[in-house]
Amino acid sequence: MSVERARLRGLPAVDSLLTDGAASKLIQQHSRDLVVVALRAELDSARQAILAGQEVDMAPTAILQRAGEDLLRQQQPSLCPVINATGVIIHTNLGRAPLSDTAIAAMRAASIGYSTLEFDLQSGERGSRLVHAADMLRDLVGAEAALVVNNNASALVLILSALAVDKEVVISRGQLVEIGGGFRIPAIMQQGGAHLVEVGATNRTRIDDFADALNEHTAMLLRVHSSNFKQIGFVQQPALPELVSLAHERGLLAVDDLGSGTLIDTAQFGLDHEPTIQESLAAGVDLVCFSGDKLLGGPQAGIILGRAETVAQLKAHPLARALRVDKLIYAALLATLEHYRRGEALARIPVWQMISRPLDDIADTVQRWAKVSGGNAIKGESTVGGGSLPGATLPTWLLALDSANPETLKAALRRADPPIIARIAGGRVLLDPRTVLAGQESALLQTLPQLTQRTTQP
Ligand SMILES: *Cc1c(COP(=O)(O)O)cnc(C)c1O
Repeated sequence: MSVERARLRGLPAVDSLLTDGAASKLIQQHSRDLVVVALRAELDSARQAILAGQEVDMAPTAILQRAGEDLLRQQQPSLCPVINATGVIIHTNLGRAPLSDTAIAAMRAASIGYSTLEFDLQSGERGSRLVHAADMLRDLVGAEAALVVNNNASALVLILSALAVDKEVVISRGQLVEIGGGFRIPAIMQQGGAHLVEVGATNRTRIDDFADALNEHTAMLLRVHSSNFKQIGFVQQPALPELVSLAHERGLLAVDDLGSGTLIDTAQFGLDHEPTIQESLAAGVDLVCFSGDKLLGGPQAGIILGRAETVAQLKAHPLARALRVDKLIYAALLATLEHYRRGEALARIPVWQMISRPLDDIADTVQRWAKVSGGNAIKGESTVGGGSLPGATLPTWLLALDSANPETLKAALRRADPPIIARIAGGRVLLDPRTVLAGQESALLQTLPQLTQRTTQP
């Protein structure tokens, strides 16, 4: 015990540490208050360690160095850019769709100062933020009306709350999806105050199953895109126009949760055909909703399109105010939609640039990476992700890095600045250039040789 007491007495005091030259440097970089807090924390943990009988370096320089490292760590925001080398284009954990340069510039412009968010320049009177995207979406896809909310989950909650509270909503058993992160369609229905009526079997639902379930409590027939899984084999779902006719014959609403939603046909890239927004509207649905940051390639948002009177009911609901989006989102969304209006989506929206990127171009990139870092170019597959096109892949080229311990290499890549997110398959660390943005390549090429113990010198 007395040994520990003696060691405790050997710890320097905060005041004396503050007179050290290293401390003044830290104070310049951070602030005196932050340095004092960091030193106290350092001394505290040293005390604990001593009492636990552990070895601690109590030299002032060591304590100051540890405090400096802590301060640097604290300065790192937990949300920081990463290099996505996974080949999953719409990676929900990595922030889904990267924005186009124009969308970023529009967000910047809207954030610097004031804007016409709710101001009508013609009349000089108060305007509505709801007009911005609505005009554009009407022109683009011919929807009567549009409403933008926080995300597609909130779009569903709003639709159910405004149109189906205490009423029945009929949905196929094959579409009671869990989208991810525990987000399940039945839970959303409950939240929206609607009663879920499941019809059909897991693999097969016929239009008659819907017809048989209708009664005076029914408000809506809902189709939900199966998103992140695919049923194959003995499967059946009624076509959307059939569902719409049934709903309208009975005076009910037909609503389509498209999930990702796309304006561009994915089949032209050798992928499956992802149902398009235009197809839903052509089928005559009352409402279709989808995410802004999946295949649309814009900011996080839930976009609702449909009949004017139905959208008006949504706008009038108090939740519409609670779920409204901010000016930065409108700015980015409008700029993204403008790419579609100009017919330049494939060339300008990152998600579409990645999907349509020529294989030769990817092969060249991998060769370039392999020269710098070692490793081999191998054939592989990229995926679209984001709850669209489940199971569909795009052929790609990968940089395969051999390592005695691939998990260690993968973790080291994650610790790089900026962090590089890779995957492991067949005992090798794999990097897919398809999802690495052009502006990130030089940072990647600086990190790789250091970690693979190669240099750029021959
Ligand atoms: C992704 C998805 C959602 C949720 O969309 P968010 O924009 O993430 O809220 C809802 N329904 C389907 C079918 C989806 O694929």
